[in-house]
Amino acid sequence: MKPSVLVVGGGMVGLAFGLAVKHALPEAAVRILEARALPTDTNPNPLDTRASALNLASAAILRRFGVAERLLPMGAPIRRIHVSNQHRFGSTLMSAEELGEPCLGWVVDNHLIGRALQLVADKQGVVVQAPCDVVRLIRGQSPAVELGDGSQLSADLVIVADGAHSSFREQLGIGADQRDVQQVALVANCLFEGAQQGTAFERFTRHGPLALLPLPHAIPGQQRFNLVWSMAPDQADQYSQVDNGELMSALQQAFGWRLGAVIDMGLRSRWPLIRVRAQEQIRQGYLVAGNAAHGLHPVAGQGLNLSLRDSWALAETVATAAARGEALGSITALRRYEQAVAADQERTVAATDTLATLFSPAFWGLNTPRDLALAGLDLVPPLRRWVARRGTAAGRPMGRLLTTTATTATAAATMASAEAPS
Ligand SMILES: Cc1cc2nc3c(=O)[nH]c(=O)nc-3n(C[C@H](O)[C@H](O)[C@H](O)COP(=O)(O)OP(=O)(O)OC[C@H]3O[C@@H](n4cnc5c(N)ncnc54)[C@H](O)[C@@H]3O)c2cc1C
Repeated sequence: MKPSVLVVGGGMVGLAFGLAVKHALPEAAVRILEARALPTDTNPNPLDTRASALNLASAAILRRFGVAERLLPMGAPIRRIHVSNQHRFGSTLMSAEELGEPCLGWVVDNHLIGRALQLVADKQGVVVQAPCDVVRLIRGQSPAVELGDGSQLSADLVIVADGAHSSFREQLGIGADQRDVQQVALVANCLFEGAQQGTAFERFTRHGPLALLPLPHAIPGQQRFNLVWSMAPDQADQYSQVDNGELMSALQQAFGWRLGAVIDMGLRSRWPLIRVRAQEQIRQGYLVAGNAAHGLHPVAGQGLNLSLRDSWALAETVATAAARGEALGSITALRRYEQAVAADQERTVAATDTLATLFSPAFWGLNTPRDLALAGLDLVPPLRRWVARRGTAAGRPMGRLLTTTATTATAAATMASAEAPS
């Protein structure tokens, strides 16, 4: 019988995990169950979209899944990362040239990522069933799920990718460390004057970390950026209510004039930030993935990137299990997955937590460690190159796929004082 896999949740991670299984086992029957209706092809206003920074490792994985060729040309390459502190002297610039890479990553609109994953899934025979509400997991002889209409589906492996507030993680008896970090990410696309140079900015402001990620834009003389500004909930409430002019001037004041004047801003969205870490990720027949397994602060833009690396580990896991004649959902096979992802997850979560804490408004008064780290990086190019490469996975089985990780460069900056370059 051909192997079968069900994925609960068709967000970016659920789709990527479905494609990972199909990549490793083209004969497998893969079905993704998504509660929401699939987005249509209609093009939203480019100022009203969300975006993600994808690092080079993610690009390499998406290339293996057959998604990158379609997707990356629709994004903007990140050629430099500029990190700075509002009102302080420390700042640093990391560039692709210094690392001998054409770019450090890409920024792509989320709806384009989702759409490209769906189209490739469709092409490869992965079934995306939506809208389709999964109401419970059935833990019997073989893993199964019950749908809203009362029907049941079973498979060799069920992947649970139902997001940070996962009810199915709980149903599996898997606990999670969940912390409300008392911050909200205010997200909006903005237009600045001038031509897009491909620099991503991370600036530590009085309210919290502010990221501006470059995006492609069709109109010459304007550059589009995705703003992700983390701040206390009451500040986010206030900024959600003011008019565009007021928010643009607050942004201009906090970010400065490096990009010239902010000339427009699109719809704002708010993302209450919770930090989630599942205590385990496997049960016989089940695997927990994506935000359900680890929900990270967006300060380093690592949530999706980490999950894509996890998806590659799953591809390797199921290929090995099939070659050895093991059931895909066997504990033996799934433990191999757990071992493969453990160190990467540990490192990425720890770096993100450190960065989120160090650059939170609560620590605003303690600028000196940040200033020294940033100034030190700027003064010592080899150290900066080492930091920018800190997210690589050389030596691991995925090492050949992974080169530098764009936003990990920022996260890695925080570790610069803890570890010396060899
Ligand atoms: C402001 C912000 C900026 C970010 N920027 C970046 C970045 O630049 N780079 C990066 O790598 N990461 C970034 N991230 C993180 C990234 O967005 C997340 O890691 C990623 O979206 C997690 O996807 P997911 O599929 O696990 O969860 P979700 O996107 O929450 O998807 C879960 C899916 O499960 C479905 N579902 C839930 N319950 C059921 C059910 N009962 N039945 C069927 N379906 C169900 C939901 O409808 C949903 O579609 C950012 C996050 C935020 C908040």
